[in-house]
Amino acid sequence: MPEHNADLVILGGGSGGYACALRAAELGMSVVLIEKDKLGGTCLHYGCIPTKALLHAAEVADAAREGEKIGVRSTFDGIDMAGVNAYKDGVIAKLYKGLQGLVKSRKITLVDGTGRFEGPNSVVVGDDRYVGKKVVLATGSYAKSLPGLDIGGRIATSYEAIHLDEAPKRVVVLGGGVIGVEFASVFKSFGADVTIVEALPHLVPNEDEFASKGLERAFRKRKITFKTGVKFTGAKQTDDAVTVSLESGEEIEADLLLVAIGRGPNTANAGYEEAGVKMERGFVLTDERLRTNLENVYALGDIVPGLQLAHRGFAQGIFLAENLAGLNPPLIDEKGIPRVTYCEPEVASVGLTETEAKEKYGEIETLTYDLAGNGKSQILQTQGAIKLIKSGAKGTEGPVVGIHMVGARVGELIGEAQLVYNWDAQAEDVAALVHAHPTQNEAFGEAHLALAGKPLHSHS
Ligand SMILES: Cc1cc2nc3c(=O)[nH]c(=O)nc-3n(C[C@H](O)[C@H](O)[C@H](O)COP(=O)(O)OP(=O)(O)OC[C@H]3O[C@@H](n4cnc5c(N)ncnc54)[C@H](O)[C@@H]3O)c2cc1C
Repeated sequence: MPEHNADLVILGGGSGGYACALRAAELGMSVVLIEKDKLGGTCLHYGCIPTKALLHAAEVADAAREGEKIGVRSTFDGIDMAGVNAYKDGVIAKLYKGLQGLVKSRKITLVDGTGRFEGPNSVVVGDDRYVGKKVVLATGSYAKSLPGLDIGGRIATSYEAIHLDEAPKRVVVLGGGVIGVEFASVFKSFGADVTIVEALPHLVPNEDEFASKGLERAFRKRKITFKTGVKFTGAKQTDDAVTVSLESGEEIEADLLLVAIGRGPNTANAGYEEAGVKMERGFVLTDERLRTNLENVYALGDIVPGLQLAHRGFAQGIFLAENLAGLNPPLIDEKGIPRVTYCEPEVASVGLTETEAKEKYGEIETLTYDLAGNGKSQILQTQGAIKLIKSGAKGTEGPVVGIHMVGARVGELIGEAQLVYNWDAQAEDVAALVHAHPTQNEAFGEAHLALAGKPLHSHS
């Protein structure tokens, strides 16, 4: 078997794997990157980018529908899915081309094929063996389903849902997490009747309850139906419809059932178990420096327990490359990774929820600033709020340890929010910074002014 040697062999060319490859090559390492599908992985081809393109088309549809409300004569005539897909695929193609060019320019060896980790430090692809001084496992995740719930026809995961050639009229979304609510939002804007079924008591259940309730209020207004605390029991499909059954005995008929119940690690059939990689529920266990239990073998991205986000993968990839190059980069604080749910309205957060903050600090102070007091939010006709959580009792000094936001476009505010959290800023530090008027960012500044005891456009 031909053997190829490199400083670094990376299995999986998604956000985590390619970020690690790019940074390692920049630092002078020879890198082999093995990808069985398309460089860029889930995020670029089946995740972040296509869904955000759909959400943008949804926003334009809403704007057309609602133009009359602000004196703009416009009507919504419907969705041309072929046109939406052409736009979405055009965005992906451009980014894909750019990424391929980047990988090539950094002289990374991209191997097209399915790799199998064979330990202690080699990956086999077909008839070739790639031996790395270090090996990185970065094989990502897949959309989960339930036993007996077969994907196909009118039952889809996000993978199929980004490839629809017709906008469905009635949709049931199973799962009210990030992916579920984003698709619910798209389908509603595209003109469908949407019902979300979530077993937990709230939508976006991993967020602070403030955000869940804010989103639920907004979805109610948008007439997106959601049934929380409800168990799904099964689905049957015919050529014409899919019928979803709930534990309550209720049945809902739809054109499409989107299964969005979470993503499992892509770790089966890649040789991990046989090679002795320590795993739990299919996830690869690592320490805080992303080391697995095997010497010189590392893992990152969605196969490692934690937030399944592209920018976490990027950050881990860069961290690992720098760590291997001996640069001793700072550890990544998982709580400092910003989280955005891009539905309408958006949900964005960083740091701790109120429950987590109470657990960690005992005494905390919270402040909620309503977007009603923010000029730009009124111009955009959005409702929502920003919630700040500070450690320590009211009137004492302490950094802001949690920021939670709901409202149109609040995802764009997460940049400043994550600086506040990650730099341990206090309300007074942020209050001293001038925010431009009228921006939604200004609401962020005013929330901190209020927390610092000097509210401007809000009541103390
Ligand atoms: C619908 C959807 C929307 C999302 N939206 C967002 C968002 O807005 N923001 C965000 O931050 N995150 C989002 N995500 C999550 C994001 O896509 C993932 O967190 C990210 O892609 C994880 O990166 P990764 O490198 O761990 O895995 P992946 O991107 O899944 O990459 C793993 C790669 O490994 C390859 N591979 C697997 N096994 C092998 C093998 N044996 N041999 C060779 N290659 C192999 C796969 O083909 C794949 O390309 C979304 C995900 C989905 C599904």
